Amino acid sequence: MALATHAWWLAILRLLGTVVTGVVLGWLFGHVWAGLAAVLALHLLWQLATLFRLDWWVRHRSYAAPPNLGGSWGEIVAQVMRLHRRKRFHKQRYIQLVRQIQRSTAALPDGVVILNAQREIVWFNRTASTLLGLRGHDDFGLRIDNLLRQPEFGRYLQEAQYDVPLVIRAKVAPETHLSLQVVPYGEGQQLLLVRDVSRQVRLEAMRKDFVANASHELRSPLTVVSGYLETLGQDPALDPELRAPVGEMRRQTERMTSIIRDLLALSRLEESDAVVEEQPIDVSALMAMLRKDVLARAEHPRDINIRIDSPAQLRGSESEVHSAFSNLVDNAAKYTPPQGSIEMRWWTDDGGAHFSVTDTGIGIQAEHIPRLTERFYRADPGRSRATGGSGLGLAIVKHVLQRHAALLEIRSAVGSGSTFTCHFPAHRVVTEHEELREVV
Ligand code: ADP
Repeated sequence: MALATHAWWLAILRLLGTVVTGVVLGWLFGHVWAGLAAVLALHLLWQLATLFRLDWWVRHRSYAAPPNLGGSWGEIVAQVMRLHRRKRFHKQRYIQLVRQIQRSTAALPDGVVILNAQREIVWFNRTASTLLGLRGHDDFGLRIDNLLRQPEFGRYLQEAQYDVPLVIRAKVAPETHLSLQVVPYGEGQQLLLVRDVSRQVRLEAMRKDFVANASHELRSPLTVVSGYLETLGQDPALDPELRAPVGEMRRQTERMTSIIRDLLALSRLEESDAVVEEQPIDVSALMAMLRKDVLARAEHPRDINIRIDSPAQLRGSESEVHSAFSNLVDNAAKYTPPQGSIEMRWWTDDGGAHFSVTDTGIGIQAEHIPRLTERFYRADPGRSRATGGSGLGLAIVKHVLQRHAALLEIRSAVGSGSTFTCHFPAHRVVTEHEELREVV
């Protein structure tokens, strides 16, 4: 700062010296003003020349040496050089940082694609290029949905439910399964994460096959055993002491049979994600049938009510919906004492169609509710086994509803009862108008 001030003093002194020289020279030649004007013009010319050199150097400073201007001009040159050095230092740091980020993301085992607000590709790493078959710089700027044309991916982008990844078959190798997940960030930008999940998909398929095959293989021997036990139980010559154990063996084989039946039902449901067969289902007739089934049980709650608030029918697989609703009604009957009641309700609104089963039974503790649809999860294991439950009923309900794009809602209070509601989307509702068209 002191140097700068010093340089400016010198510049002022130099200007004053020039003015004095001009006045003296002008006085000697008898034209003071002309002398002053001539000297100032020279001074201005010199300043212009210096300014020109400075300008030229600023433009070509990347390779030209700084001019030796001295004084306040020299100060400006030094200042520009300092700023330039600082800028170069920051630029190099940023370049290094970007290179480091690019190198680390390139080494990631997962694919990363950066998309802008228009879903155009801004950048991708090597794994993404291998998994998605992207071609170097050619694909930069192209829209990702133009490159990944699988309809599931289009739907995924449209629905924008990015919490759960989407699994699709790779375009380059159909036996490869890819998990795609969009992570929004910044202002409309998105990261597309790509993982090869073929191994997990293969293992999952093997697990499903194993359960289905094991259940299938167990079914025949079990049928033989339960057949013999039934005959044995009805044999009048059976030792009375053996009656109780044979009866218990029969009950247990019945439980095993129901577990195997439910496991096979689940395997069938897992074969595809969506319903294959669809037809209009008369829900009120189905409810009447379910009511009869409950009344046919040896022990059942006293009141079984039906409330139908809509004439609409439901579009879906009749056998699957029957099995889901029957599991819910069956549970209500199992977990409600004989003096209690059950109500089945069917209604529609703007959101779609809804089926609920409310009971005044034992209820469920809040901490169990989120896990009830897991296989073999029981809130009350002793009671479930005693009532012959397989522990798979609600897993079946969840699968059936998933295949119908529906959701299960569970509300319950210990001691006062539970309500299980199935919410079906509006496109699953068959209105009277549509029904007529189908008949025509
Ligand atoms: P389960 O064959 O054991 O009934 P589910 O999958 O149908 O198997 O149900 C899982 C668990 O949820 C049951 O073991 C039971 O503890 C609980 N549950 C289901 N429905 C009801 C209900 N209406 N009232 C009380 N508990 C219920």
